[in-house]
Amino acid sequence: MAERLWREDRLEQAAVAMQAAFDAGLPASHQFDLQRMIDAELATRRRCRRVRVSEELELEAAAMQPAWLAAVGVVAGRALRDVTRALDVRWPMPVLLTLVPDSNWVTFVHARYGYYATRSERLKVVLPPASAQLGGCLRVAALHEMAHAGVAVVAQGRAPRWLDEGIAVWVESDGRPSGDIAGAWPLFASADALSGALEGHAMSLDGRDAAVCYAVVGRMVRDEAARGGAISLHDWLRRIGAGEPWRRAYGRAFRRPFWRTEREWRRSLRDAGGR
Ligand SMILES: [Zn+2]
Repeated sequence: MAERLWREDRLEQAAVAMQAAFDAGLPASHQFDLQRMIDAELATRRRCRRVRVSEELELEAAAMQPAWLAAVGVVAGRALRDVTRALDVRWPMPVLLTLVPDSNWVTFVHARYGYYATRSERLKVVLPPASAQLGGCLRVAALHEMAHAGVAVVAQGRAPRWLDEGIAVWVESDGRPSGDIAGAWPLFASADALSGALEGHAMSLDGRDAAVCYAVVGRMVRDEAARGGAISLHDWLRRIGAGEPWRRAYGRAFRRPFWRTEREWRRSLRDAGGR
């Protein structure tokens, strides 16, 4: 119930439902992150105001100087345009960029920047204060999380995790992902191993292993974009969105079997050095 309300972005009701669930005996560990997300987003909503930047973008931020808000809107608007172009997205609903004003509310977020979540009426991107610095990493963080929103729209939420994350890293770096991949072999030697590492809780997403993992998936997407061009990449995502299994969709979009590509990655990772 609380999760459904949260997905609808009805945060006041979600917080009440969450409390009711705990009162009824739901173990606290069960939905701990959901509760903390609801609390952080609700506290932000109470503190912040919402402004419309464009038809496709809204901003929820603490009421600061209009000049600051306008500057954030410009950076976020450009990031959204870049994502739209890179992934050929037709946005079915606006992106809501929520800037959490207090870092104490989001200590539970161990992510590269923030998080993205599909809501029933908005595509919501939440960034903690550390990721929302003007002149700092706001642009990169917005690109990364908005790219997740774009992948979710085009691939209809069916992209494998490694590809979703790889595209976000590729987009955030304007198509030139960097980062050290030494040590990636043999830990991240297959697409499934990468997805497993990113989905599992064994790896802290702001730690060293995660940095290597992000570097690998970013390069994988860069290489595929170089191989087939943007058109093949878009075709691949759209086929996944239409329900084709991602490996078969890759074969059709790039006209080569995925196992061959995976074998080449494996070789290049081995050449880059193991741990
Ligand atoms: Zn990400």
